[in-house]
Amino acid sequence: MAELAISGEYDLAVAGAGVVGLAHAYVAARRGLRVVVIDRDPRANGASIRNFGFITVTGQQRGEIRRMAGRARDVWAEIAPQAGICIEHRGMLLTLRRPESVAVAEAFLATEMGVGCGLMSASELRASHPNIAAPGTLGALTSSHELRVESRTAIPRLAAWLAETMGVAFLTGAAALSVRPPVIETSRGPVRAARAIVCPGDDFASLFPERLAPFGLTHCRLSMLRLAAPGFAWPAGVMSDLGLTRYAGYAELPEAEPLKRRLAAEQAEHLAHGVHLIAVQSADGSLVVGDSHHYGDLPAPFAPARAEALILDEFQRATGLAPPPVIERWTGTYAVASDRTYLIDAPAPDVRLVVVTAGCGASISFGLAETTIAEFYGHPLEAIP
Ligand SMILES: Cc1cc2nc3c(=O)[nH]c(=O)nc-3n(C[C@H](O)[C@H](O)[C@H](O)COP(=O)(O)OP(=O)(O)OC[C@H]3O[C@@H](n4cnc5c(N)ncnc54)[C@H](O)[C@@H]3O)c2cc1C
Repeated sequence: MAELAISGEYDLAVAGAGVVGLAHAYVAARRGLRVVVIDRDPRANGASIRNFGFITVTGQQRGEIRRMAGRARDVWAEIAPQAGICIEHRGMLLTLRRPESVAVAEAFLATEMGVGCGLMSASELRASHPNIAAPGTLGALTSSHELRVESRTAIPRLAAWLAETMGVAFLTGAAALSVRPPVIETSRGPVRAARAIVCPGDDFASLFPERLAPFGLTHCRLSMLRLAAPGFAWPAGVMSDLGLTRYAGYAELPEAEPLKRRLAAEQAEHLAHGVHLIAVQSADGSLVVGDSHHYGDLPAPFAPARAEALILDEFQRATGLAPPPVIERWTGTYAVASDRTYLIDAPAPDVRLVVVTAGCGASISFGLAETTIAEFYGHPLEAIP
């Protein structure tokens, strides 16, 4: 990645080189703005490289968030080939094990959110994906909307492409200490930019803590696993019944209530650990599988082994497969608010503070960035459809 000579005058400084910061840099650079991205780490190391890389549209909250996700998916699809980012696979397949889950899927399909989605019967699932049709599965909700990228390589490639092709400058290994355009003080010296957008992920303490405090933010820590290649091509991002009560696009439907009651009775321990299933495949055939959700004001470094066991249990229940050996484990954290999916704040007329406050930053960032930049600089480059 091009390393900035710290001197120079920029139109926009972006603090934070996770997917949220990079998406803002991209949208601003597309407008012809001279952009510099500042990050304290030498390479991306936060939530944006620890996630599934699952660009999820289906199940995102009805309305604005789902529209942002659709827009973000389109931008990912457009720029991935240009940036040399491989789309590992497409689509989503959510296996349904209970009649209450089928009812949620049918209700979902009857809404405008169901466009591009379908319901597969148990026999269709067995015929088309015999490797992941657990005995007793009633069918599957399918979607063509999703994309999957390998975040740990995709995010560095996105940054490199922004530097090489879009003219975005990067100053890495530099903590932003204060953001008062036209001067952004960093641990490697001042940067001059007319405006700034701060995208700090779940660091609520370093920049504008007094602005973030009223949002009541907390942290969510997730456990993630990589399983050895199962020996066959994974059809899509695979999810399970538990996802129907986590993702607002399903969970906010009235038809989800009976399912929530049944899951509370049958899988209380999974719910207590915030376990649901996403299983996606990497180019080498291995599977990235998760996850659990533990909340707190300070993410503890101690990930419970029980959560891992419950993730693997859900994997087996949903797919019928004995989980292949675990070959890698990691945790990640993201910001959470109880009442919103993102926040855009204006600590000063020439500064915006942007935080995704739910586990969907990879899925909405480009759409969110278009919203921020449209408000900050005027009408949108491309309207969100
Ligand atoms: C395990 C896991 C799985 C997930 N799965 C998915 C998924 O499949 N799909 C999906 O859509 N979302 C997923 N998410 C959520 C998604 O990853 C996050 O919403 C998103 O990555 C947040 O991006 P960000 O840029 O805000 O944060 P980060 O990626 O954490 O980046 C913030 C950056 O800001 C920098 N920074 C902070 N303060 C300063 C400062 N003062 N000076 C300089 N730099 C600073 C940090 O160094 C960091 O690089 C998942 C999250 C996790 C943890």
